[in-house]
Amino acid sequence: MKRDSKNKKNLQENTGSYIEGLFDFIDNSPTCFHAVENINRELEQAGYQRLLEKCPWKIAEGGKYYVNRNDSAVIAFTIPAKEHKGFHIVAAHSDSPCFKLKELPELTVEEHYLKWNVEKYGGMILSTWLDRPLSVAGRVAVKGPDGIVTKLVNIDRNVAVIPNVAIHMNRDMNKGIEYNPQTDMPPLAGSVGGKDGKADKAGYLSLLAEKAGVTPDEILGQDIFLYNRDKCSRLGLEEEYIGGPRLDDLECAYAALKALVTAEPESYITMLAVFDNEEVGSGTKQGADSSFLRDVLSRIRSGLQLTEEEYQCMLAESFLISADNAHAVHPNHPEKTDAVNKSYLNEGIVIKYHGSQRYATDAYSAAVMKDICREAGVPYQTYANRSDIAGGSTLGNILMAQVSMNTVDIGLPQLAMHSAYETAGAKDLEYLVKALLVFYSR
Ligand code: ZN
Repeated sequence: MKRDSKNKKNLQENTGSYIEGLFDFIDNSPTCFHAVENINRELEQAGYQRLLEKCPWKIAEGGKYYVNRNDSAVIAFTIPAKEHKGFHIVAAHSDSPCFKLKELPELTVEEHYLKWNVEKYGGMILSTWLDRPLSVAGRVAVKGPDGIVTKLVNIDRNVAVIPNVAIHMNRDMNKGIEYNPQTDMPPLAGSVGGKDGKADKAGYLSLLAEKAGVTPDEILGQDIFLYNRDKCSRLGLEEEYIGGPRLDDLECAYAALKALVTAEPESYITMLAVFDNEEVGSGTKQGADSSFLRDVLSRIRSGLQLTEEEYQCMLAESFLISADNAHAVHPNHPEKTDAVNKSYLNEGIVIKYHGSQRYATDAYSAAVMKDICREAGVPYQTYANRSDIAGGSTLGNILMAQVSMNTVDIGLPQLAMHSAYETAGAKDLEYLVKALLVFYSR
């Protein structure tokens, strides 16, 4: 069977199940650590071999591999059997804005309530975290026979809530409130008293230890986050929308993963890079501003025994798609977007432009992306911020300082970015899988 028809067949077999698959992925990925674990699992099922950064790599033409950093970032790549002109890379991020529990999280109020001491991770919409069932998940570090190891934990039941103040106690409640993360946002996790009237100080660590299969004393470190327990669902009169936590950016990460494992590349090394810490500026060892991508590229180079000259030629021939969700026109506030360069749910992949280059898109890379969309038969839209609004940043231009190649910034249109519950279009996910499949198959 020819490559194109094989790819089309693979796609047809998967079409229709993407939304259910995305819901499953997001519902089971309460933190960046769980998202990466779920990506690892899917890669393993697709025949990708795990590489460790601390061990020598043996890579070969025709092979499929992946590597993690910090349990929260993953890079997967497929090396075609015949030739490799360059790299075709899609980048996305595993993290979402949320609350992180402080190292000593327990607070008590008037010897009755037990609360958790939290701080902001990223730029979230604070009010959306109120009055929802919440839980905690993340990872703990314990000492194993060969040194410190990490274990993922997820309490996986409704254990906390951040209650609003009743309208009767604040008549100005609907006139706009400034929330203080230190005093307004600590979640209520239970009562202190207990049956015998004693404070249960071991409660929090005991919960984590039980999930990790260790004793509370064995836990030496923790990265624990609050998460929204609401599940993803379809929305709208004709179910034309999807809603759920962490659509930014697990929706793009999922689409790219599906395309990567479905594609059968012939001429380019295909890669998926899912970084952590995009929501806090990417400047960590597992973020887009780290050496992670550069390190992996350089190890592929030595694994394939390419000369520096051959490697530099390949980089110049490479292309990166930075895929991070985009703002759709808000139904109640259409004035927040540019007059013309704006996007709507279900109307296709958003190509993002920024005069000051916070998005890496330029004439060349936009043309490549439009050509990919046309070949895939999927619609695309354009986005630019209003000229009087600063807007956000993303992965593309940060990555380019580490390893430079032609890059386009794109995303799927969504509403309520950085809310605890976001909304996107039901059609757009498939558009992105189709376009990335074309990209990876070129
Ligand atoms: Zn994002």
